[in-house]
Amino acid sequence: MDLVYLDANASEPLHPAARAAMLAALEQPGNPASIHGAGRAARRVLESARESLAARFHAAPGDLIFTSGATEADALAIHALGAGRPVLIGATEHDAVRAAAPGAVIIPVRQSGEVDLPTLEALLRTHENALVCLMSANNETGVLHPLADAASLCARYHALLHVDAVQTAGRVEIDYLALGAASFAVSAHKLGGPLGAGALICAAGLADHIKPLIAGGGQERGRRGGTPALPALAGFAAAAMVARPDLRAARERIEQAARACGALVMGEAAPRLGNTSCLALPGARGGVRAETQVIALDMAGFCVSAGSACSSGKVARSHVLAAMGYADHAGDAIRVSLPWNLRDGDVDQFIVAYRAMAERALRKPGDISSSPPVRAA
Ligand code: PLP
Repeated sequence: MDLVYLDANASEPLHPAARAAMLAALEQPGNPASIHGAGRAARRVLESARESLAARFHAAPGDLIFTSGATEADALAIHALGAGRPVLIGATEHDAVRAAAPGAVIIPVRQSGEVDLPTLEALLRTHENALVCLMSANNETGVLHPLADAASLCARYHALLHVDAVQTAGRVEIDYLALGAASFAVSAHKLGGPLGAGALICAAGLADHIKPLIAGGGQERGRRGGTPALPALAGFAAAAMVARPDLRAARERIEQAARACGALVMGEAAPRLGNTSCLALPGARGGVRAETQVIALDMAGFCVSAGSACSSGKVARSHVLAAMGYADHAGDAIRVSLPWNLRDGDVDQFIVAYRAMAERALRKPGDISSSPPVRAA
């Protein structure tokens, strides 16, 4: 069966430009740390990727530290910039941030999913010189935080702001450093590059104070040890240069059809990413479980995800929806996130399958995964 992939926020499909850059880099025999000709050639590939990415994200090349992904970049920022400071994190942050900041003070969000600015200000008054971690857009709902306002509050109270920019980088043009962020994390596979590459990008002057999480051989000017994954980083840089399509019209069509089936669109009151819908399906006997919906759609050939999936593949209740005050829907919402290579017809087919899934589920809750797969023509 030809799969329709609608899970871009988990991982965007690899862009051909990234694949080409990776294939070329795979031909490099050298280690960028070696001083011979092959090493110097490898170093040129590495530094050229760094320069392109730094320019793309309005930073200086020396302020960009390559990592294995955004989980590591977030952890590095919290480890290095949070040392000796109170750490404040948004209630809807990704586990990459939550797990790196145990015991952090939680900044609540409003029902729209946006950070509650008056409470942030109150917390900044009582927690001097804090490190504040806020994501630019939420991975489950697509909700964009009012970053400019949060950054001004941080500046007013002498707090550092670290932004998890994973879901906006390459999708929404934001100059994070100009807003006042001290650092931000980006991930290659969320913008059409390969899995396993990312970066922490810092404001001028800060990167040199970054203490490594992994010291190793002193790579990345002592800020992150380990031989850099050259092909992945070359693919990362190439993917970041590619313009992305505006998917809002396609997203609107899906939401309209889902609402007609009784679905609720989580976070719809806030500005959101153009490719993301978080759809809860409440039923007369409680909501239709996210896992059940995902399995039914999977059997029909559509890859979507539950709001939150842990690495074991089990579906956890969404802490994001719970923080927004939708505890009742924390187990019955799915995420549809449209990829850059959405094909003509994918949306029509998805709408047919979603309607069929919702009709069956609402008729007989809990019994849709055993129904025969439905697939639009
Ligand atoms: N932050 C957000 C908002 C994410 O969506 C993800 C990935 O799902 C991460 C961090 C972790 O990124 P990576 O997979 O590069 O470690």
